[in-house]
Amino acid sequence: MNQILPGTLHDATADQLKKVAYKRIATEEAFCPPEMMDIYRGLLDDNSFTDPGFNTMFGFYLNSPSLRSQQIRDYLTDLGDLRLSHMDARGIDMQVIALTSPGVQVMPKEQATSFAAYANDMLSDACKKHPTRFAGLAAVAPHDANNAAKELDRGINKLGLKGAIIHSHTFGEYLDDPKFWPLLEAAEALDTPIYLHPQVPSAKMIEPFLDAGLDGAIYGFGVETGLHLLRLITTGMFDRFPKLQVVVGHLGEALPFWMYRLDYMHRAGVVAKRYERMKPLKGKVSDYLRNNVYVTTSGFAWEPAIKLCQDVLGVERVLYAMDYPYQHDVAEVIATDDLDLSDDVKKMLFQTNAEKVFKL
Ligand code: CA
Repeated sequence: MNQILPGTLHDATADQLKKVAYKRIATEEAFCPPEMMDIYRGLLDDNSFTDPGFNTMFGFYLNSPSLRSQQIRDYLTDLGDLRLSHMDARGIDMQVIALTSPGVQVMPKEQATSFAAYANDMLSDACKKHPTRFAGLAAVAPHDANNAAKELDRGINKLGLKGAIIHSHTFGEYLDDPKFWPLLEAAEALDTPIYLHPQVPSAKMIEPFLDAGLDGAIYGFGVETGLHLLRLITTGMFDRFPKLQVVVGHLGEALPFWMYRLDYMHRAGVVAKRYERMKPLKGKVSDYLRNNVYVTTSGFAWEPAIKLCQDVLGVERVLYAMDYPYQHDVAEVIATDDLDLSDDVKKMLFQTNAEKVFKL
């Protein structure tokens, strides 16, 4: 076999993959029920729904004739043989799968709640059919937080799902708002992680990203999601819910790199009493990043950045992810296999950290 795999950018081939002494568990992998594509098409056609980020992203993925968007539509909707064949060709033993961004968080409350349950049933069925290959995260509707808490409980205890997926802001609002606390409380009580995944910046934030084409995965996603995580820390959500664990992709959306300055300037802000919501915390910003946050390598097969995260967060806090089907280059699997790490740490990165965090 010597061909560039469909949907990839680099020209490594599957036959270059080595046999390794660990399972490769990819922890930020997406799916989309066909019915959700129909709902999104309806939103694109609905003139009263005017979210500029959604419109640009799904205008592209749902309507573009480009090979990339066609493939993404096909790959996202599959929870069977096509997905398994791609995993095999890239050496992925197991995917932790979640509803793709922005999930149900662009739907009206009632529809969001019922569609989350529908998607969770579908994902759970696929996981039960392929228990050694698929695990799933529960979709919930944060804007219906009491029902989101119930659905998370059902997802974990009845459906066998392994955490919650939240696609960052919900109509421009962040999880530190008290209206969302029942969901945070439920995740903490269930001892299950929340995967805080990107979505496009909200209408309030997107303008200077959009006019330069930077709103998506290239940068806007990371800025928006990093901001969300940082808000959770500085507004004291982890003092309120100290056992809550949040998983963040893309190596922590740059916050590990910022750690020193976040600590310094947070302290400066607290001392100056400049902001009503910047109150003293029990720990430093970096303490919460080390104690309440896991980061995954989705989209980041890059040794200096992975090593920085392992160095400042601890090797037990960094997990492998691929980002299927948006980014699934076999060259990146090979690059991650080839990281200059001890055998023990590599097994933690690819396998055992994920098994522990998601209770696989
Ligand atoms: Ca992703």
